[in-house]
Amino acid sequence: PEKHLLIIGGNAAGLSAARRARRNDPRLKITVLEKSGIVSYGACGLPYYISDVIKDEKALLVLPVDALVKDGIDVLLNHEVVEMNVRERSVYVRTAEQFQKIQYDWLIIASGARPIEPDIPGRDLDGVYTVRSLEKAAQLKNELISGKHRSAVVIGGGYIGLEMAEALTRQGLKVTVIEQKSQVLPYIDSDMAALVESEMTGRGVALKTSTAAVRIIGEQAVRGVETDGGEILSCSLVILAVGVRPNADFAGLAGIELGPSGAIRTDDYLRTNVLNVYAAGDCAQVKNTVTNKFEYFPLGTTANKQGRVAGDNATGRRQKFSGVVGAAVVEAFGLEIARTGITEAHALKLRMPVKSVTIKGTSRAGYFPGKKEIYVKLIFDFLSGRLLGAQMIGKEGVAKRLDVLSTALQQKLTVQELSELDLSYAPPFAPVWDPLLIAANQAQ
Ligand code: FAD
Repeated sequence: PEKHLLIIGGNAAGLSAARRARRNDPRLKITVLEKSGIVSYGACGLPYYISDVIKDEKALLVLPVDALVKDGIDVLLNHEVVEMNVRERSVYVRTAEQFQKIQYDWLIIASGARPIEPDIPGRDLDGVYTVRSLEKAAQLKNELISGKHRSAVVIGGGYIGLEMAEALTRQGLKVTVIEQKSQVLPYIDSDMAALVESEMTGRGVALKTSTAAVRIIGEQAVRGVETDGGEILSCSLVILAVGVRPNADFAGLAGIELGPSGAIRTDDYLRTNVLNVYAAGDCAQVKNTVTNKFEYFPLGTTANKQGRVAGDNATGRRQKFSGVVGAAVVEAFGLEIARTGITEAHALKLRMPVKSVTIKGTSRAGYFPGKKEIYVKLIFDFLSGRLLGAQMIGKEGVAKRLDVLSTALQQKLTVQELSELDLSYAPPFAPVWDPLLIAANQAQ
C-alpha cells in the first residue's frame, strides 16, 4: 500500500519539510493539513506590509498552493488537527462541515506558534490586534489607511513590538510602547538596549519600561490602556506583542513530550518521543549550542532549516539539526540591532566566568563619506577566551557583520582567534580595522 507522510501546518517549517520529502521520494503520498485558508506567507514581512513599505499583501504569499499541488503535495486548507492518536497513527481533523480521521505512516508536526493573549480585561475589544495572520494584518492596514486611528499603545517591547511601533509611527500614529521589564529587547543586555531606547524616544515614541498593562478600556471599541501605575493612556488601537506560545497542546495531550515552555521536545534528528513523529519550527524546542541546552527560540530561519531536516529524516535519511547559536537581527527606528549567543546577564546567571568589552567603531573608513557608528559588545569566557555572545547596534553594516560572529560562535572560536580573522576591507565597506577586530583585540 501507498505510504503516507502527513504534515501539520502549511507555513515555513511544514512546507520546507513537504518539499524536501518530495524531492527525496517522488512516489510518497504527502499531505499538508493547514487550519487557516492560506499557506506559505511571510509572517516576518507583516510589519512592513502594515507600514506600507510592502504595498500589496499578495507579495507576502511566498509559494502558491498550485506550485505545491504541481509537485504532488496535497494541501488541505481549513483543516485543523484537533486530536492525535499515536497508537493508531491517526489525527482527527475539523473542517467547516465535519470531523475526519486521517492515517499516517510518518507525521511531521509543524504547527508553529500563536501570539500570547495576556489575561487582562478588554482584550476582545475592537481595535485590539495581535500580529501573526495576514488576514488580521490586512484588516489593520485598512483601518490605518481609512484614518481611523491617531494613537496606539503597543504592549510588549520585544522585537515584534518594536517593529510594530515603527510601522505605526510611519503610518503617522502617535505611539506608546509599554514593557513590563526594565528594558526593551530582553534578549540583549541592558546597556545595549539603552541605545535603542534613546533612539526610539528621540524619534517621538513614548516608552514606558517597568510598566504593565492591567486593563484595556472601552465599551465596544478601545479607548485606552490602564497601566499598573494607574495611568490611563488614551488610544484607539492596541497591539498585543508579548510573545508567542507553541501550538502543541494537541500533541501534548496525545503523549508527545513537551518542554517547560510547552514546545515539543525533540532529539538532534528532530524525532519526538513517539516513533515516526517529528517536529519542526515554532512548535518545537531548539538546542542552543552555546549552552548545550534545549530552549524555546522561535524564528523563521530555524523553522525553514528544521523543516528541511525533518523532511529528510521522515524519508529515511539521517540528517542532524545541530542547533542554533541564537543569531537574530531586527531593524527598528533606523537602527540595525543584532545579537548572537548568550547575553552577559545570562552568562552571569549561569555563573560562567564572563567578561565583556564594548567598543564604538564605524561602518566605513574614517575618511569615507556616510560612515555610521557601530557599537559592538563581545561577551566571552575570561578563562578560556571562548566567545559566548555578541551584540551589535548601528545604522548600517550591522546585520551581516553579526553573521561573522555567529560563525565564530558556532566554531567555538576564542577572542584571540576572532582577532586573527581575515575580513575583507575597502573604504566604502569597513575601516581597515573592522569594528569586530577592534573589539576582539580589546578583549585580550
Ligand atoms: P507558523 O508560521 O506559525 O506556521 C504554522 C502553521 O500551522 C500556520 O499556518 C497555522 O495556521 C498552522 N496550524 C497551527 N495549528 C494547526 C493545527 N492544529 N492544524 C492544522 N494547522 C495548524 N523570524 C525571523 O527569523 N526573522 C524575522 O525577522 C521575523 N520576524 C517576524 C515578524 C513577525 C510579525 C512575526 C509574527 C514573526 C516573525 N518571525 C521572524 C518568526 C517567523 O515568522 C516564525 O518563526 C515562522 O513563521 C515559523 O514558521 P512555522 O512554520 O514553524 O510556524
